[in-house]
Amino acid sequence: MKFATARVEGEEVIGFIQDSQFINLTRASKGDFPKTMNEALQFGDKLIHKVNEILKMDITEATVPLASVKLLAPIPRPAKNIFCVGKNYAAHAIELGSEADIPEAPMFFSKTPTTVIGPHESIPAHEHVTEALDYEGELGVIIGKKGFAIEKEKAFDYVFGYTIINDITARDLQKRHKQFLLGKSLDGSCPMGPYIVHKSALNHPHALKIETKVNGELRQSATTEQLIFDIPELISVLSQGMTLEPGDIIATGTPAGVGMGFTPPKLLKAGDTIEITIEGIGTLINSVNS
Ligand code: MG
Repeated sequence: MKFATARVEGEEVIGFIQDSQFINLTRASKGDFPKTMNEALQFGDKLIHKVNEILKMDITEATVPLASVKLLAPIPRPAKNIFCVGKNYAAHAIELGSEADIPEAPMFFSKTPTTVIGPHESIPAHEHVTEALDYEGELGVIIGKKGFAIEKEKAFDYVFGYTIINDITARDLQKRHKQFLLGKSLDGSCPMGPYIVHKSALNHPHALKIETKVNGELRQSATTEQLIFDIPELISVLSQGMTLEPGDIIATGTPAGVGMGFTPPKLLKAGDTIEITIEGIGTLINSVNS
C-alpha cells in the first residue's frame, strides 16, 4: 500500500496509489478522512482498515492518473524535526574519515521541518552560504504509533511505513560550526517521497537495494542490510528517554558514495539532478536550482 500527499485543484489531499492511478482519499471519503498525512498517521495501522472501507465504495470520480497529479512530500510539514542518523554504514564512515569513525552507538542529529520538499521540487543551491552542497540517499522510517522506551523486539509495531529521503548537507557549514544542525537544515534540504509504503508491503526492510545517481552517474549503491544500527535498534535507542509519536520520521543514514567521499569531491552544483531509488518504494528525483 502506497500513500502520497498531493495538491489537487489547489487543495492538499491524501491519496492511495494503485497501479498507475491516484485515488484521492479525501474526495472518495466525502470528507470522512483525515485531511493531512500527519492527521492520518494518528490512526496508525487502523488507517489501512479505513482505506479498505473507502476502496469498497464507488471511487471512479476520485481516481485520476498518477502522472496528472502534483505530488508533495508525503509529510509536507512534519510536526517536529526529522531524526537523522550519522555514519550508519561503515563504508560511508570510512570514506569521510577512517575506521576509527565507525560509531559504537547511533549518532543522532536532526533537520528542521522547513527543510522538507517534495518529489521534483527544486533544491536551492544556497550559493550565498555554502560552496559544498552534498547529497545523501537514505531509507526513511515513518512512525505510526506513540511509544516510550520501546523494546527492540516490538519496534516494528511502532513503524507505519517507509519513504525515501535525500539528506542534503552543506559540508562546509557542518565542519565550520562543529555541530550538524545548521549544515543539515538549509531550506529545501530534505527532499522526501514520492510515497510512504506501508510496512505490510515491505517484508524485508533490511534487504532493500538503495541507489543514488547524479546526472545519471551511479554514486551510491548498497543495501539496507549494511546498516550498522538496524531499524529496531534506532527506534529503541531514540525512545529510551524521548517519546516517539505518529508522524515522526527517522532518516536511517546514507551509504558510501556521497560527493565528499570522492577525490576530488563531486559536490552538487546548480542544474544537477539527483535520483534516489529504493527497492519496493520508488524513485525520488530532485534538481538543484541556483
Ligand atoms: Mg544523512
